[in-house]
Amino acid sequence: MARYTDAVCRLCRREGAKLFLKGDRCYSPKCALERRAYPPGQHGQGRKKTSDYGLQLREKQKAKRFYGLLETQFHNTFLKAEKRKGITGENLLIMLETRLDNTVFRMGFASSRKEARQLVNHGHFTVNGKKVDIPSFEVSTGDTIAVKKRSQSSPKFKELKDMQITVPNWVSVDINKLEGTVLSLPTREDIDTPVAEHLIVELYSK
Ligand code: SF4
Repeated sequence: MARYTDAVCRLCRREGAKLFLKGDRCYSPKCALERRAYPPGQHGQGRKKTSDYGLQLREKQKAKRFYGLLETQFHNTFLKAEKRKGITGENLLIMLETRLDNTVFRMGFASSRKEARQLVNHGHFTVNGKKVDIPSFEVSTGDTIAVKKRSQSSPKFKELKDMQITVPNWVSVDINKLEGTVLSLPTREDIDTPVAEHLIVELYSK
């Protein structure tokens, strides 16, 4: 599968927002956006006017990069969101938020969405007792996501047991058991993604 391999801090600087792509570093003073809060490149500090299209495009890019999706995956998710009942922009964010890789990250089992995707891909998680290695798998209310028994002894997961984690209120986690439950689907208010989703809808509706 294609993936983005360039320097990821450039993406945050381009979007002017923390996208939390580098795990612990994102919460430290080493964060590139803290040190250079302007777009990358030779003209990064120049003054710029942005058109409506430019604003919509940036918002879409920001959401796409926040969740670590490529264009086709992101657009396909939008098309599915459009077909569901309710507000398309909110549907889109809820669908992105309830991807298995994002849920694993939100439950504190990985330090970034990228790491979460890798752990899911490598088959370290079960959903309701069955191995699921598809990062885009959509979790539902009542689902139990757990670190697979055989993976629980790996240093990566053992060290989690000593950690204090904060999780959003749509999930609960028993860190000693390395397992979490989806209490309900997130509402827009539960999602702290710094995105104005209506601009994405406007962009794709052109
Ligand atoms: Fe973005 Fe994290 Fe890099 Fe900061 S450290 S610029 S939040 S990826």
